[in-house]
Amino acid sequence: MRMLVVGSVAFDDIQTPFGVKKNVLGGAASHFSIAAATLIEPKIIAVIGHDFPEKYLKYLSGFGIDTAGIERSSDKTFHWSGFYEHDMAVAHTRSTELGAFATFEPKLSEEDKLRQVLFMANIDPVIQYKVLKQMKNAQLVGLDSMNFWIESKKKDLWKVIKEVDILFLNDAEVRMLAGEASLIKAAKAIQKQGPDIVVVKKGEHGVTAISHNHIFVSPAFPTEKVIDPTGAGDSFAGGCMSYLVANSQPGKKISDDLLRRAVAWGSAVASFSVEGFSTSGVAKATKANVEKRVEVLRNLSAF
Ligand code: AMP
Repeated sequence: MRMLVVGSVAFDDIQTPFGVKKNVLGGAASHFSIAAATLIEPKIIAVIGHDFPEKYLKYLSGFGIDTAGIERSSDKTFHWSGFYEHDMAVAHTRSTELGAFATFEPKLSEEDKLRQVLFMANIDPVIQYKVLKQMKNAQLVGLDSMNFWIESKKKDLWKVIKEVDILFLNDAEVRMLAGEASLIKAAKAIQKQGPDIVVVKKGEHGVTAISHNHIFVSPAFPTEKVIDPTGAGDSFAGGCMSYLVANSQPGKKISDDLLRRAVAWGSAVASFSVEGFSTSGVAKATKANVEKRVEVLRNLSAF
């Protein structure tokens, strides 16, 4: 199965206890696709501004990512600025400038419309929906979002969520979206609205994945080197979705066993992401070193 990814491709300004970086490559679709490229060759649908350097596009293609669906606009590139406090548990947004994404009208080629897998990485849910509606043969649809869109475009976000198979959100976002304090209750309430699978990301505390009558909990890989958590959630989703794509057949339901293995793969990939600024951490994830971390994860919680 072949995967299309829509989502932000951006410039990030990041401040963590380990330093400050300005105008580095960011965006949910960038982190997601580099993570997924460990197993598959995803294609990105996005828009960049006149200020986006060619070298970043070349860098993305270097992973086997198809960048032909990244349009160039005369506007500015999406720009996110944020910081983390001492524990690096929560990203605090300083500013979000949509730039070219504010007027982006995604137009898929006939070939793209026939792809079997769509992942809607974090971006305006109106844009996510416009891409989803063009798909003619999607067998597996995933979605990620964040507090920014839950607060500003909740109705539009619900409209997309109702049509997805697998939803990725962090614990605070799941509570916020469902308006429920109990995390499991909140995830199940969202599941009732459409997605078969709700994957709750909990940062260094791992992941809880909920499907019908099944709950799976994966710890995070216990890395000691946490430099920049930006993109860890996207990298997790990229790892998880690429594992599903690489190991499932079109039209076949995702088994609980496959879901468990995909979540473990995503957790291992995400642990590379936090080990460096921007995408430099996730860029080091290879099939072989991810497999090693999956084995560590397997032994961490078996008893
Ligand atoms: P994560 O840390 O996995 O939640 O993802 C961080 C990435 O999301 C950064 O590289 C940002 O460029 C991007 N980002 C931040 N805010 C938004 C937003 N409102 N919409 C889309 N992407 C965003």
